Amino acid sequence: MLGSASLCVLLGIAAPPLELRLVMIDFVRIAPQVSGGMLEEARRLLGPKGVGLLTRQGTAAEQRLPGEVGVLLLSERSRGKSRGGQRLGAIQTTAGVTTIWIDVPAVASVAEANRGLHCCSAEMRRLGLALGRVLTHELVHLLDPALAHTRNGLMAARVDRATLVDDPAPDTPLRIVKRPNSDWDN
Ligand SMILES: [Zn+2]
Repeated sequence: MLGSASLCVLLGIAAPPLELRLVMIDFVRIAPQVSGGMLEEARRLLGPKGVGLLTRQGTAAEQRLPGEVGVLLLSERSRGKSRGGQRLGAIQTTAGVTTIWIDVPAVASVAEANRGLHCCSAEMRRLGLALGRVLTHELVHLLDPALAHTRNGLMAARVDRATLVDDPAPDTPLRIVKRPNSDWDN
C-alpha cells in the first residue's frame, strides 16, 4: 500500500511534518524571551528533520489529551543525578503518557547563564538556546527510542557548555522520524 509520505515523494512535494504537541508546564516562570528562545531553537533544530512543534500552556494537575507531551520546567533537581553528573533533562512514558522534565537551574549553570533566570538579555538568549537544545535532546529520545547516547554533541549523555550555546548548533541525529505510537493523531 502506498502511504501518504511515499505518495508525496512521488509527486515531488515535501511530506507533511510530524507535529508534536507539547504542553508547557513552567514552575520556574522563565521570562517570555527565554521560553520563546527555547522553542525557537528546538524548532530550528527539528524543523529540517520534518518535525514541527505545537505548544500550549498547561498545569501539572490537568488531564492531558492523547498524544500530548508534557514539558515540565523545574526549579529544583527533583529527578536526581545521573552517573555522569547533574542531569539536565529526563523523559519518561508511563501508560502512554510522556513527560519531559528539564532542570532549569542546572541547564543555566552548564550554559553559564545563571543571570538569564532574572535579567540580562545576553544571558537570557543563552539560556533560551540551552533549554531549546536540552528539549531537543529529549524529543530525539522520544522520536527514536533506539538511538543510543553519543560520545559528543547534542545526544551525549553529558553535554557541555559549547554544545548548549555555541554556534553552529550541534547536528540533530534524527534520520527517520517515526510516529511514537499509532494514536498520535487522535
Ligand atoms: Zn539522553
